[in-house]
Amino acid sequence: MSKQPSDNIMSKLVALCKRRGFIFQSSEIYGGLDSCYDYGPLGTELKANIKQFWLKSMVQMRDDIVGLDSSILMHPTIWQASGHVAGFSDPMVDCKNCKRRFRADDINIEKCLVCGGELTQARQFNLMFKTHMGPVEDEASIVYLRPETAQGIYVNYQNVLQSSRQKIPFGIAQIGKAFRNEITPRNFIFRTREFEQMEMQFFVKPGKDEEWFEYWKEKRIQWYDELGIKKENLQFHQHGPDELAHYASAAFDIEYQFPFGWKELEGIHNRTDFDLKQHQAYSGKDMQYFDDATRERFIPYIIETSAGCDRTLLTCLADAYEEEDLNGDTRVVLHLSPKIAPIKAGIFPLVKRDGMPEYGHKITDNLKKHFMAFYDEGGAIGRRYRRQDEAGTPFCITVDSQTLEDNTVTVRERDSMKQERVPSDNLLQYIRDKIS
Ligand code: ATP
Repeated sequence: MSKQPSDNIMSKLVALCKRRGFIFQSSEIYGGLDSCYDYGPLGTELKANIKQFWLKSMVQMRDDIVGLDSSILMHPTIWQASGHVAGFSDPMVDCKNCKRRFRADDINIEKCLVCGGELTQARQFNLMFKTHMGPVEDEASIVYLRPETAQGIYVNYQNVLQSSRQKIPFGIAQIGKAFRNEITPRNFIFRTREFEQMEMQFFVKPGKDEEWFEYWKEKRIQWYDELGIKKENLQFHQHGPDELAHYASAAFDIEYQFPFGWKELEGIHNRTDFDLKQHQAYSGKDMQYFDDATRERFIPYIIETSAGCDRTLLTCLADAYEEEDLNGDTRVVLHLSPKIAPIKAGIFPLVKRDGMPEYGHKITDNLKKHFMAFYDEGGAIGRRYRRQDEAGTPFCITVDSQTLEDNTVTVRERDSMKQERVPSDNLLQYIRDKIS
């Protein structure tokens, strides 16, 4: 894959996503809506599996992190306290000739990239989407579509503490939509204006923050490894003093080597006590934590892990995509980890007679109780395998004439293409073992 020009790989991936129903351009029949995308049948499954895998690792397997699902629209003062109203902006320049807009920190030149026209001075452009709540559209009714899910966690931290009986150190995890009016969205679903985040905020005692920061850095990069992403395509990038956000004392990005270069996948930030202090000041509510054991009161420090769900999905697809040469024939295959593959098993009767379809349907119905399984009797068996290879399906099960004699089926493994005969009674356990 790395031997091909990056544009080529991205356009092939975009074409595959449309062809197989992973991702479609939003509002396509109306000419599309820039930077918005819809997930098709396979994309919906893949996204749900990625989120489930994140929740499992961040909530289900831990005693010290709990979940939250806060609303997208929140009290507008929250965005003043967080600094977003005043400072959540990117520098923007306009071309005086063709009127196109660019992010000034993306281009280091004085002439327009498209027409060569003269550019204006850079000015700040706030990235928050505004709307109005209620029937009157005036200044007082302005609300924002949240640009991050984190603030919903901070403003609920006392509620969660009181209701879940957690003690510091503990975390709150949330998956949800975020909106940013990006000046230059690009690279398919890498940078869009509507996207989903998977964020976890970990509340610690001041002084313990650096230790926990290191802990979460390691945990999070390990998660991508468990997701099946190739190690050599992952790296840390430490934010220098000029890159650090106003709320952070330390920040590392986990970066992935996309076809268009090394780019941020997830941010790990030491947000100090900035956010809770701000909310204390703006809301007038006490944001301190009372430590029963030491009788101390303090505002906790927060370590944040902030990942993009759509960016992770793009990473999984880019990392899994391969074109294999099979004796002059090209096999397009997605080597997705079986844990997140949209469909776990394809079931094919070799021919459409002699009771093979009925047998195949029975297997499918049985497997469907446990995971996504797909019955397919259309076309030559080789073509059916290829369709599932492109969908990333790790196992294909074929019912043939021997099945009807001895109740065994063949299981063909996607990556090695090796086939094994397995008693159909053991099929579920066989696939489960391989997935886990
Ligand atoms: P960038 O520098 O790329 O704009 P950021 O540093 O502003 O990103 P954060 O605010 O740290 O990003 O957001 C956390 C995560 O949310 C990012 O690592 C990314 O995975 C995801 N994310 C942020 N903005 C977008 C977007 N416009 N489209 C898709 N995902 C996004």
